[in-house]
Amino acid sequence: MEQYDVIVIGSGPGGYIAAVRSAQLGFKTAIIEKYDKLGGTCLNVGCIPSKALLDSSEHFFKAKHEFTDHGINTSDLQVDLAKMMERKQSVVDQTTSGVAYLMDKNKITTYHGLGTFESKDTVKVATADGDVTIQGKNIIIATGSKPNFFPGMEPDKDRIITSTEALQLKEIPKKLVVVGGGVIGLELGSVYARLGSEITVVEFADSIIPTMDRTMGKELQKVLKKEGFTFKYNHRVQKVENTGKGIKVTALDKKDQEVVFEADYCLVSVGRKPYTDGLGLEKAGVKVNERGQIETNDHLQTNIPGIYAIGDVVKGAMLAHKAEEEGVFVAEVIAGQKPHINYKLIPGVVYTWPEVAAVGYTEEELKAEGKDYKVGSFPMRALGRARASGDINGLVKILADKETDEVLGVHMIGARVADLIAEAVVAMEYRASAEDISRMSHAHPTYAEAVKEAALAATDNRPLNI
Ligand code: FAD
Ligand code: NAD
Repeated sequence: MEQYDVIVIGSGPGGYIAAVRSAQLGFKTAIIEKYDKLGGTCLNVGCIPSKALLDSSEHFFKAKHEFTDHGINTSDLQVDLAKMMERKQSVVDQTTSGVAYLMDKNKITTYHGLGTFESKDTVKVATADGDVTIQGKNIIIATGSKPNFFPGMEPDKDRIITSTEALQLKEIPKKLVVVGGGVIGLELGSVYARLGSEITVVEFADSIIPTMDRTMGKELQKVLKKEGFTFKYNHRVQKVENTGKGIKVTALDKKDQEVVFEADYCLVSVGRKPYTDGLGLEKAGVKVNERGQIETNDHLQTNIPGIYAIGDVVKGAMLAHKAEEEGVFVAEVIAGQKPHINYKLIPGVVYTWPEVAAVGYTEEELKAEGKDYKVGSFPMRALGRARASGDINGLVKILADKETDEVLGVHMIGARVADLIAEAVVAMEYRASAEDISRMSHAHPTYAEAVKEAALAATDNRPLNI
């Protein structure tokens, strides 16, 4: 039986990064992936294909609605959905083959097939050529997550779909009902809204992206309404039915009255759940909690010494970069190092247009904790760069400690804020004050100037350009 120092189960961003870091640290490493392609949810049916379609649809939307403002006339503009999907697939293929290259480069042995624990140090892989059993001194579980749904809204993958099917539709829906106004609903809803679908988001909470700072949801909904979105808040979806030609969604409003929505398709995007099917956790004795997450301690070790778990299958934000940080962390723990992850400083991004990005505390969290804070905001429309490119929606909001001026949270909505948030993460990792940010030079004209101006507004209300 082949022996390894580290066996990683699952090749998503958590698993493949854990394997690369383990190999860098000199461990004999293997990775097991049940599908033919490496990269997990993120690369195959998540982050990468959704961003490819978001970019393509954004080009179409701009060409249709904004190019004439720039003096560019386009006529007879058409969408070739098949070509758009083909491009998305080629982006996915390039990215997943990049992971295969990384495995080879780092001399990591790859096994394709379902991995199942036989005991606490042995895993059987059901490969296409038969079962192979391997043994590991350390095993890292990185099996990720799958779409969640509630009774009555089971996806049939035909008209009642999850993100996976929404990433490969063969037609542009005339009408699409999205159950859940979280990240997936708004990103994939945006793709089809831009291509011409009427989108109705039915959301249980009283705003979209309800877990982010409230200002973000308010601002975002204003722009999305113009893109063809309708929002139904305080509606709890009870039932979704395929009527043959379309779908029927039944929800209860605030007064418990039944409200029915009809459309061609229904995207169920009410969260994701940890995935451990077929893993044989019971044979290794690994515990899961009532939410199905594998239980881990501060070192991301499960209740069984030598078995670790990372990414979507454990507690915390279901984000690719969180999974990656945990992959590096566990490999370094196994190597006897003392790594650290600051979970409060893992940024969250929604890739709508405008994008939304955030790190640290929301204003609602600070209020709930009774912290004394101050707020500095700056609107994108006051920036020369925003006016030059025509992307004037959004703002940057900085929350800082009232007494010490330490930055506690940064919330942004606007063009390219998915990239801008990195500045806030760096500042907060180094425990910068709003004054520190306000005194750093920011290139002109850029969207980044809004960060400096919001910091000036937060220090003692002295923004320079408004
Ligand atoms: P996964 O990526 O889910 O990988 C787990 C892998 O394990 C899978 O390949 C699976 O086949 C394999 N596996 C499971 N069980 C076994 C077994 N027993 N044997 C062998 N292999 C097994 N996050 C972001 O940060 N940014 C984004 O823009 C973003 N966009 C998203 C868009 C969509 C539509 C979706 C659905 C998700 C998105 N996410 C995004 C979330 C992100 O995809 C996940 O947080 C991330 O993939 C989690 O990584 P992971 O390594 O924990 O698991
Ligand atoms: P989510 O948790 O972001 O949003 C789910 C929404 O559904 C919530 O707003 C919730 O109030 C609502 N909801 C729940 N039950 C409902 C009901 N019965 N009726 C109406 N509304 C209901 O979940 P998601 O959008 O499915 O995304 C899943 C995960 O994938 C997220 O945790 C996210 O981290 C990850 N993801 C991240 C990105 C990104 O980083 N850009 C993109 C896509 C997905």
